[in-house]
Amino acid sequence: MSYFNRMKEFDYEQLVFCQDRTSGLRAIICIHDTTLGPALGGVRMYPYEREEDAVVDVLRLARGMTYKAAVSGLNLGGGKAVIIGDPTQDKTEALFRAFGRYIETLHGRYITAEDVGSSIQDMSYINMETDHVTGITVARGGSGDPSPVTARGVYNGIKACWNHKEGTSSLRGVTVAVQGLGHVGQHLCRLLHAEGANLIVTDVNERPMEEVVSECSARSVDPDEIYSVDCDVFAPCALGAVINDRTLEVLRCSVVAGAANNQLEEDRHGDELTKKGIIYAPDYVINAGGLMNVYEELAGYSQERAFKRVDHLFYTITSILETAKEKNIPSYLAADVVAERRLEEIRSISSIWANRTGTPVGR
Ligand code: NAD
Repeated sequence: MSYFNRMKEFDYEQLVFCQDRTSGLRAIICIHDTTLGPALGGVRMYPYEREEDAVVDVLRLARGMTYKAAVSGLNLGGGKAVIIGDPTQDKTEALFRAFGRYIETLHGRYITAEDVGSSIQDMSYINMETDHVTGITVARGGSGDPSPVTARGVYNGIKACWNHKEGTSSLRGVTVAVQGLGHVGQHLCRLLHAEGANLIVTDVNERPMEEVVSECSARSVDPDEIYSVDCDVFAPCALGAVINDRTLEVLRCSVVAGAANNQLEEDRHGDELTKKGIIYAPDYVINAGGLMNVYEELAGYSQERAFKRVDHLFYTITSILETAKEKNIPSYLAADVVAERRLEEIRSISSIWANRTGTPVGR
């Protein structure tokens, strides 16, 4: 399919190819939709084998960001960028500064952030060329590591799921199985432990497991065992595609709610969860704390405001679960419905306003 036809399929606004011979930069910026505001999304650095793979990835990720911002109630559009290269070998100041200059040419239509393969240091280089960057250091007025905020959002999402199921948001005595004790997983365990939840944890690395076991009185299991443990909530905080044909056969939880991206291997696995009566918190909704955190940078960062916003995730997840129940559809689809509803509403307000006044909304 031609790039234009691909863009037409999901109504992408802009695809920008960036090349800089001196620094070796090869990057693609994708702006999917700016109905709600400037397109914000991280820059992923990855050694794509084919240019085609980079294009497919950036298109898919940018559209995901539109939905994530829309469902989270943020005034942001969806965008993403990819840099073709190996993050362990090809990173230079010149490369990120060249990328920053391209971002500057878009005059704020695209705002970048950290993603897989990019770091806070890279954001600082980009910031030397443009202000349209988030996730910079606290010392420079940024929000720093988003993981504690993401974890807080996941914690609120788990409470919403439990409340939907049991009529109480208290997690005292509830057993949560946490897969992955990295930046998000560890913070999540602390929050759950403080509330009196029982924890079963796993990681492929021994060290974080030992820490969490002693700090949070958790029980540790081998990585393969985590899917089949007897628990109330399974919280995937490591990998994608963990809800699949194999794991669906052994899961013994009544809620799946965690930080990992793309938890469903395929949509049909979300349908299966619903059939089994397992409540699923759509991943892109429950893990939106990181996006909310960088959003708060745009108006001058305040952690208090960021926390307030992520605490609202309790109500967002509740409303999605209620929509799913009401319409008898799986929750991942209900999340898309909520996002699309907001986009359509704002699009129609914009067009009514433009027809009446001859100017776009906000001008
Ligand atoms: P991280 O890399 O710090 O932690 C991931 C942890 O998972 C590591 O400790 C790793 O050893 C462990 N792990 C890897 N494979 C495993 C396996 N097979 N079984 C058990 N453990 C395994 O990442 P993070 O920042 O904590 O993010 C966790 C997940 O949440 C990722 O999927 C990420 O994309 C997603 N996410 C993170 C944020 C954020 O703010 N950090 C925001 C949104 C989404």
